[in-house]
Amino acid sequence: MTSPRVNLLDFDADQMAAYVAGLNEKPFRAKQLMQWIHQRGVSNINDMSDLAKTFRTTLLDKAEIVSLPVLKDEHATDGTRKWLLDVGAGNAVESVFIPEDGRGTLCISSQAGCAVNCRFCSTGYQGFSRNLTAGEIIGQLWFAEHLLRNDPNAVRRIEEFPTPGWEHTGRVISNVVMMGMGEPLLNYDNVITALRLMLDDRAYGLSRRRVTVSTSGVVPMIDRLAQDCPVALAVSLHAPNDALRDQLVPLNQKYPLKELLAACERYLPFAPRDFLTFEYCMLDGINDSDIQAKELVRLLKDIKCKINLIPFNPFPESGLKRSTAQRIHAFVNILLEAGMVATVRKTRGDDIAAACGQLAGDVVDRTRVRERAVHDAEIVQSEQPIHWLNKLDD
Ligand code: SAH
Ligand code: SF4
Repeated sequence: MTSPRVNLLDFDADQMAAYVAGLNEKPFRAKQLMQWIHQRGVSNINDMSDLAKTFRTTLLDKAEIVSLPVLKDEHATDGTRKWLLDVGAGNAVESVFIPEDGRGTLCISSQAGCAVNCRFCSTGYQGFSRNLTAGEIIGQLWFAEHLLRNDPNAVRRIEEFPTPGWEHTGRVISNVVMMGMGEPLLNYDNVITALRLMLDDRAYGLSRRRVTVSTSGVVPMIDRLAQDCPVALAVSLHAPNDALRDQLVPLNQKYPLKELLAACERYLPFAPRDFLTFEYCMLDGINDSDIQAKELVRLLKDIKCKINLIPFNPFPESGLKRSTAQRIHAFVNILLEAGMVATVRKTRGDDIAAACGQLAGDVVDRTRVRERAVHDAEIVQSEQPIHWLNKLDD
C-alpha cells in the first residue's frame, strides 16, 4: 500500500529543511520549494522548473500542496470577500478578506467549531469538531493571497493607498488576524507553524505587528506565545468582573481575570507594539452599563492597552441583543474620558454576513446545543449584520 502524500503546506522553513534533508537533497532545495509554494502560489510540482527532474519525480510520488476546498465564494459590495471552506464530515470554516485604504486584512480560522462556548458566539454554539492542521491554517492565506493577486479590484485598492512601512511587492494581504472560527491558542502547535510562515521572508514576510492572535484567554499559552512567536495579541475580555465573565466566556472559570491580566502584563515586553488590544462585545443590558464601563476602567487602567468595542452581531439562538448606538456611545465616552484608548468597530461586509458570531461555518449541528438554546431563549430578530473588523492597528 502506498503511504499518503505529505502536504508541503504543513511545513515551516525548518520543517521543510528537515523534510528535504530526509530525501537526501541539498538544503537550498527547501528554500526553492518555499518560494515556489508561498511566494509564487504554485501547487503543481511539475511547474517548479528549477527543481531537478528526479527531485520533482520523487516529490510527485510523496508530496502535494493542497488547501481546503472552497464551498462558497462571496463578494460584498464594499470589497469584502468571504470563503466557506470544507473541512470534511459536513463541517466548514470561513476566511474573510477585508480591503481597506492601503491594506488588505485576512481573517482566518484555526479550528472547526470551538470548545470554549462563549455565550454570544455562534461558533461556540456549534461545539468543537476538530483542530485545523498547520497546512489548513496557512492554506487560507496561501489560497487567498494568490487568488486575490489576480483580482484587479483587490490589487487596485492596495496600490491606490500605499501604506508606509509596507512596501508593495505585488502582495495583496498585508495583515492577518486569527479571529475567524476557533480558539487559536487551543490549537497551539499548528498555529505556531502557521504564524512562523506568515512572518518568514521566504514565505509571506509579514511583520509581527501585522499578524494578530485573538484569544479568549488561555493563560499558559499566552506565556508560550511570548517565547515562541510574539505577534500582536488581542484578548477577548467582554466583562469587567469574574462573575459576569464566568458566564460569558466559560474559560474564565479556569483562568480568572487576575491570572489573565497578569499574563497580559508578562506578554507586553514581548509584544510587537507597546500595547495589547482588549475586545469587548457590546451586549444590550448585559455588559454595557455606565457602572460596568467604570469597572472596566478600574480593571485596565494600569495596562497599556487599546479597548475595541465590538457591537454584538446577533444570531437567533443566542437570545442576546446588540447594545444600542447611544449606549455604545455613552460607554466609549466613559472610557475615553478616563484616559483609555478605545474604538468602536465599524461596519464591513454587510451584505454577505461576514461578521464574527455569524460565520456560517457549520453545516451539521454537532452538539444539538442550538436546538436546546432555541427552545430556552428569547429569539432576537437578526439585525443587519455588521462587520467586527476595522482598523485593528496602524
Ligand atoms: N477564539 C478567539 C478568536 C475568534 S473570535 C477569541 O475568542 O478571541 C474573534 C472575536 O469575535 C472575539 O473577540 C470574539 O469575542 C468576537 N465575537 C464572537 N462572536 C461575536 C458576535 N456574535 N458578535 C460580535 N463579536 C463576536
Ligand atoms: Fe471560541 Fe472565540 Fe467564539 Fe469564544 S468567541 S466560542 S473562544 S471562537
